[in-house]
Amino acid sequence: MPEPEHTNGANTLGIEVKIAKERLASNREMNEIGIVSEFTCPECHGTLWQMYEGNLLRFRCRTGHAYTAQALLEDITESVEAMHWATIRGMEETAVLLKQMSEHVRENGNVEMAKRFLEESARVNEKIEAMRKTISTDVIDQTAQGSGTMPI
Ligand SMILES: [Zn+2]
Repeated sequence: MPEPEHTNGANTLGIEVKIAKERLASNREMNEIGIVSEFTCPECHGTLWQMYEGNLLRFRCRTGHAYTAQALLEDITESVEAMHWATIRGMEETAVLLKQMSEHVRENGNVEMAKRFLEESARVNEKIEAMRKTISTDVIDQTAQGSGTMPI
């Protein structure tokens, strides 16, 4: 990916002040201070533009949310973990519902279908356990989160 051109500092500051005051910049203005990144803003899910301040890589959306690369990494990591837990909650509900369906059809005399629902519930529970193990190891290695000695 090409690096954004280093823009006139005063102009960059002017546009960023405008974003802070008016809370919305045009795409043209954002393109003056940075280039469109491949990332979305963790807060508003809008496009993030990336820019350099000296050696510091920063990201900013049109509504004014701003991140260092380190802060963006931490937010994305938290978001991935939250999605994992949401998936597990959904799978737990699936397993419980399958078990209830099994009991219901068994009470109505359909033993074969009850067995299939119960087996499927057990399979979902196995997948949940595998996912829990995956989450218990962090999404990224702690060392990748850095100690802040080197601006990135
Ligand atoms: Zn935003």
